[in-house]
Amino acid sequence: MIRLDRFLANSGVGTRAEVKKLIKQKQVKVNDQVVKSANEKLKDDDVVRVNDQVIDALTERYFMFNKPAGVITATQDAQHSTFLQYFQNEVHFEKLVAAGRLDKDTTGLLIVTDDGQFVHEIIHPNKKVPKIYQAKIAGQMTSDDVELFGQGMQFKDFTAKPATVKTVDLLPQNQSVIEVTIHEGKYHQVKRMFQQIGKPVLTLHRLQIGQLQLDEQLNPGDYRALTENELRLLK
Ligand code: URA
Repeated sequence: MIRLDRFLANSGVGTRAEVKKLIKQKQVKVNDQVVKSANEKLKDDDVVRVNDQVIDALTERYFMFNKPAGVITATQDAQHSTFLQYFQNEVHFEKLVAAGRLDKDTTGLLIVTDDGQFVHEIIHPNKKVPKIYQAKIAGQMTSDDVELFGQGMQFKDFTAKPATVKTVDLLPQNQSVIEVTIHEGKYHQVKRMFQQIGKPVLTLHRLQIGQLQLDEQLNPGDYRALTENELRLLK
């Protein structure tokens, strides 16, 4: 048995004082009953909700987000909408961070979590976690282009490690859709690699990180918690 306010504080909902305030504001329920006192003792099978969201004793949360175009991968910005604004209904949403950045105009899979160590595992180049993107480009890939991607590319500020590319569709007006896999995430890396071969990226969408694929049911701007199986794919 644990006191309700201690449980909520331990679960990352807030400090004891913040938790007391939430209780006073009638935002906390135990087994669907609004709680009146922070001193209440919890039994093992009690279900605690804050703003109707179940609070687990485990604090770490993992989400997949389908990032829409026009949204930046920052937590705060004076001008642009940020990924974090989509998570404002989560308890302590301000603790959430994105595992790696997508450009403002890039869409697709973004992992959002409050587990900093996990973020490190996903984005550190030494970990070599593959990231798969779908790029619509102006032009078509020649075998020389494919080889250049496969060798890695030298830029003035960094060297891109070998990347694999596969043409998945040829479009009118000499455009094509390419699936590209990289293992690091340098600034504008995919766009710069295509720029280097003179075939600029028109749109870019991330499909996959490691073995985790973006759920096609998620509309742009939607997110959901990762399932245990999905999390296991990444850990
Ligand atoms: N590479 C890019 O150029 N942009 C992204 O958003 C991600 C990878």
